[in-house]
Amino acid sequence: MDVYGLLGNPVSHSLSPPMHEAAYRELGISARYVTFEPESEALEAAVSGADALGIRGLNVTIPFKRDALSLVESDELATRIGAVNTIDFGGSSQKPTGHNTDAAGVRRAFEHHGTELDGTQAVLVGAGGAGRAVAFALAEAGAVVKIANRTKERAENLANAVPRASGHGLDDLPNLLADAEILVNATSVGMDDDRSPVPSESLSSQLTVMDIVYRPLETRLLREARAAGAETIDGAWMLLFQGVEAFELWTGREAPVGMMNDALRGELSGEADAFK
Ligand code: NAP
Repeated sequence: MDVYGLLGNPVSHSLSPPMHEAAYRELGISARYVTFEPESEALEAAVSGADALGIRGLNVTIPFKRDALSLVESDELATRIGAVNTIDFGGSSQKPTGHNTDAAGVRRAFEHHGTELDGTQAVLVGAGGAGRAVAFALAEAGAVVKIANRTKERAENLANAVPRASGHGLDDLPNLLADAEILVNATSVGMDDDRSPVPSESLSSQLTVMDIVYRPLETRLLREARAAGAETIDGAWMLLFQGVEAFELWTGREAPVGMMNDALRGELSGEADAFK
């Protein structure tokens, strides 16, 4: 039996085990996906221990994505983003290889919805860990990226690292959105509260709006975007496709996207019902 897993702290609410195990069941793969919660100082021992034990692959989440970079042979995109969220122990190099499938998750989520990014004007709100992956995903796909963040300096720093990007404060959002076709929220605003990081008057039907927040799935931003006539993409799509990309990298097989999506959304709606 193959073992895959997730390294993070905390990981108890992770949606990755049901999503990946649905794929193993569907394709008849004998594998389990388990979560590991090492202390920060034990990260290096955890990665080399996993390698020694024959674990095939690990996802990496908060707070280890940045530190994992130096423990593996990172690919070019993960190196530029400055974070690894997927480790593959099956490669032929001496060190395990590190990848960032969050960026691919964003690109594939737009592709799945038939939204072209090449040549578009995109506004990204947020310049934290997830914001970095989104910024590179949009730029790699050919968008011009305007990054707006509460702490403007952080947006400017990120923009310096991303091709065709500029950094702004949140006050610039109405201007930036006037000629944008793509809007992505990568702040935590809207998670566990009913707030939006974007003034509703700046939303319009010319936009496709992605919110990467997935708890809840229906954020205030997405509600207001839909009311303004915009196309919307919820945060479970990025989560799904980063998992799909990791599955395909580890197994070399095409992922059963529909089954993984059903498992993920089943878990999320179960959680939402439990809170009612
Ligand atoms: P992070 O590194 O802590 O960054 C948080 C971001 O939110 C920063 O840009 C921060 O701005 C901004 N922010 C926080 N509170 C704010 C407020 N009150 N007003 C305006 N901006 C505010 O967090 P992260 O890891 O990037 O995660 C961000 C969100 O993305 C979380 O909700 C997470 O669950 C979600 N996420 C989703 C996926 C997915 O697959 N769908 C993947 C990763 C993360 P400052 O720089 O000014 O502090």
